[in-house]
Parts: sequence; structure tokens; C-alpha cells
Amino acid sequence: MVHFTCDLCGKELTPGSECRYVVKLEVFAADDPAEITEDDLDDDHMEALSQLLRDEEANLVDPDAVSPSYKTFRYDLCPECHKKFVRDPLGKEAAHKFDFSKN
Ligand SMILES: [Zn+2]
Repeated sequence: MVHFTCDLCGKELTPGSECRYVVKLEVFAADDPAEITEDDLDDDHMEALSQLLRDEEANLVDPDAVSPSYKTFRYDLCPECHKKFVRDPLGKEAAHKFDFSKN
């Protein structure tokens, strides 16, 4: 039998007896295309641009590429931690509390 533990509190989650929640996060740099000017449209720039695009595609299809701008996370949560997570997914509440304790 596969055993899961809550990634937040470490509680054991027994399949069948208790709900298990899966959190999947995907983090990547927003790929906003740079504005193309007329200067960019001569052949040299187009060649450089298409080379750049090929490089980016190569990065995307290689799952082993170490790219700090792209990362996925997967967590198993117990019902209690799931409730806390959906209320404050980015931990903003906790961050505020930390700020207050410093002052
Ligand atoms: Zn938990």
C-alpha cells in the first residue's frame, strides 16, 4: 500500500480513511516578447532571432535542463493543511506575522 504524509505537518495520510489533497505549482518567467522595431527586421537580426527561438525551444523540451526560471512543485496535504493553504497560498499571512514580531 502506498503511504502518503502531509508535506506541511508530516501527518500520515491513510488511503481510504482520509482525504488527501494534491497541490501542484508551476513557476516560470513570463515570456513577454520584446517589441520588434524596423531595425530588427533586417536579415542578420532575423537570423539571430530565429536562433534564439530555437535555443528556447530546446530548453523547453529538455526536462533535465537546469533552468531556475522554470520549476514545478507537488505537495500532498492533509485536510487541515489544505484548508490553511487555500486560505493563504502564498503565506502572506505568515509573512505579515513575522514582520510584526520583529518590531
Ligand atoms: Zn497537514
